[in-house]
Amino acid sequence: MTSTTQKAGRALLVVDVQNDFMEGGTLAIANASAILPFVNGRIVSGDYAVVIATQDLHPENHVSFGNWPAHCVQFTRGAELHPGLARDSVDLIWRKGLDAKVDSYGAFEDNQGRSSHLADLLQARGIVTVDIVGLATDYCVGTTALQSAERFHTRVLLPGCRGVGMNRQDIPDMLAKMRLAGVELVEG
Ligand SMILES: [Zn+2]
Repeated sequence: MTSTTQKAGRALLVVDVQNDFMEGGTLAIANASAILPFVNGRIVSGDYAVVIATQDLHPENHVSFGNWPAHCVQFTRGAELHPGLARDSVDLIWRKGLDAKVDSYGAFEDNQGRSSHLADLLQARGIVTVDIVGLATDYCVGTTALQSAERFHTRVLLPGCRGVGMNRQDIPDMLAKMRLAGVELVEG
């Protein structure tokens, strides 16, 4: 295989690198901005046929605000992609969580199992491998990776991820679940 065809078959998903999940945000993840150099390095690498950034985007009355602090509310700064992200090299912003009544940790389907048709779009582009980075390992990254693994060779690039880790086992449990589902966990 030539490098061109490898690139043609690969997509990068950058999950929820948004102000509210970074330091100072309403649902801040510790040291989240430390992933930016790695994530930006992947975005501008030229290794991918398509680079997609997901954006958690909720109406003011979103159902998830019963479980979580209000975050990523439409038309707020918190919902915007972090200014440190190399967004000029992102091909597409993929929004999720817009339905007030349904949350969506995963980019491929919402928490009620309704497809977003992202997988169809990637398959139509000839994508076979999906690399995933972003926030947070134990929620949206993990869920997106598990969904991706149903259709694609899926790799989670751990230096480009941070987790919430509300309970000590949450991150290790999600890593184990991903491994079991055939997701390749890449350490470096
Ligand atoms: Zn959310």
